[in-house]
Amino acid sequence: MSHQSDFLAYQAPANSLNKRVIVITGAGDGIGRAVALACAGAGATVVLLGRTMQKLEAVYDEIEKTGGAQPAIFPINLESATEQDYKQLKEVLNEEFGCIDGLLHNAGKLGPNTSIEQYNADQWQAVMQVNSTAPFMLTQALLPLLKQSGDASVVFTGSSVGHHGRAYWGAYAASKAATENLMQTLADEHSEQSSIRFNSINPGATRTQMRSAAYPAEHPSDVTPPEAHANKYLYLLGPASKGISGQQFIAQPKP
Ligand code: NDP
Repeated sequence: MSHQSDFLAYQAPANSLNKRVIVITGAGDGIGRAVALACAGAGATVVLLGRTMQKLEAVYDEIEKTGGAQPAIFPINLESATEQDYKQLKEVLNEEFGCIDGLLHNAGKLGPNTSIEQYNADQWQAVMQVNSTAPFMLTQALLPLLKQSGDASVVFTGSSVGHHGRAYWGAYAASKAATENLMQTLADEHSEQSSIRFNSINPGATRTQMRSAAYPAEHPSDVTPPEAHANKYLYLLGPASKGISGQQFIAQPKP
């Protein structure tokens, strides 16, 4: 079976992420929230990164309520975070955990639905910052802690418009192409010198606020809920994907 079919068929055994520390951006809502809960359910200590404290606290409470390992919360706005902020985050995580076993770059910004001719340059910059520059800065800052793991997995989040640009998707499409390319560069750079693996996942149409904003006419019940992707993220973040790097995984391939 190919890696993609293993990924699609994977059913995580109990405690598949036992004792692993997994950092998730955009963990307060949508796919990030569902993956945070799934990782905690699989035994991981989850580090919840996001910009809305209330949402992060709600996920924290839910994990505690269901008996998961005590998570950590780090509020960060990926649109404005500086190199110093990332360094600080690395120091705190180093003190608290000493190593990181998984990093999911999930937070995303959709930006305006408009032609390139009309696209505002500040909005372009903000989308690129959240979707591709922040994953670069966060990965760079956390590499020393990922190297300490011995089996670390970094997962980037792609999109079909990142594989082929589409009218009116502007910076979002360009930023997703950039993030997939960054993943490949990192995978290549680390293929011989470390055990860290780098892959991406395109979740496909998923019932979240971002999806409703992009497709307001669509009925949410016609769209896959984020929880349905849990096993796929557990595959990529956990030991099942050991040795696989530089791959673009598609959660909902076209039949
Ligand atoms: P949501 O809009 O539901 O969630 C996005 C998350 O990112 C939220 O937690 C949000 O925080 C966080 N976020 C946004 N901007 C920032 C910022 N500046 N700093 C910190 N956190 C931020 O989106 P989805 O769950 O749908 O998307 C998750 C990922 O999946 C994204 O990368 C998206 O591009 C990708 N994707 C989604 C698809 C879909 O159909 N849903 C399809 C293909 C790809 P807050 O809630 O506080 O705003």
